[in-house]
Amino acid sequence: MLNIDLHCHSNISDGVLPPAQLVERAAMRGVEILALTDHDDISGLAEARQMAESKSITFIDGVEISVSWRGRTLHIIGLNIDPTYAPLIEGLAVIRAGRAQRAENIALELEKIGIQGSLEGAYAHVGERRLIGRTHFARFLVQQGYAKDVKSVFKKYLVKGKPGYTSHEWASLSDAVSWIRNSGGHAVIAHPARYGLGKNVLNDLLDEFCALGGSGLEVVTSSHTPEQMRHFAHHAQNRNLLASCGSDFHGPGESYFDLGQLPEFPHGCTPVWHHWKNNIAAELTN
Ligand code: AMP
Ligand code: MN
Ligand code: MN
Ligand code: MN
Repeated sequence: MLNIDLHCHSNISDGVLPPAQLVERAAMRGVEILALTDHDDISGLAEARQMAESKSITFIDGVEISVSWRGRTLHIIGLNIDPTYAPLIEGLAVIRAGRAQRAENIALELEKIGIQGSLEGAYAHVGERRLIGRTHFARFLVQQGYAKDVKSVFKKYLVKGKPGYTSHEWASLSDAVSWIRNSGGHAVIAHPARYGLGKNVLNDLLDEFCALGGSGLEVVTSSHTPEQMRHFAHHAQNRNLLASCGSDFHGPGESYFDLGQLPEFPHGCTPVWHHWKNNIAAELTN
């Protein structure tokens, strides 16, 4: 079985490593097919692809788009997208502009509980890159001693009902899926168990996603327990959706799974790479 990782982040979004270093790490860890899926930003793809080619890794252009659906935030992964497709580029730029505004609101919320300077502090973790997110605030809060690590921050801050949370309107599901599809890619619902959707709401989401032309579900991810993987493997099969797998690696020490460190792909699911280049499909069946 090939080592395939279709979900990870570089420091273009909220990962720690620059794109080339991320790919080098993937190569060292034996990844053979890799997608870089930064949040709402595709500007790391060229650098990552160049390194992937020098390491003989099959590289897939990807993105993880932030979406608002029925008052919830969902993440939709685009795989095999065309990074030169103008509506995708423009749509992502709008989301990033919204992130800058949200960051100011988060800082104001944190000020209310006496945490000063978080906007500058979070931006210090963004470096010269443009995309700011909650992870950058989380790293600032760890540095200031408010929590022992990034995971612990999200138990006490930045989530609904806790200090530092602000609601935000992201892209619509229909826009995100159409940008991905019309650029030639496959749209995949990232870590579906993370949204805590009840049975009926999940069915509504899958109905709508399928009607919009969505392709798959991320079944194997560090966000899922083995039981959740089985559960969403069934949903994928029942709905004729493809299944995807990815570590969601953000950086050494910050993620549950390292690059390419994934549980076995579920039997009976059709993998999202099934329809990709013939050579990948052929390698898989050998
Ligand atoms: P944002 O897109 O700015 O709202 O930030 C979302 C990111 O925060 C996710 O992609 C994760 O990297 C991080 N995150 C959210 N919840 C958690 C959590 N419970 N533990 C660790 N990281 C989290
Ligand atoms: Mn992230
Ligand atoms: Mn995500
Ligand atoms: Mn992710």
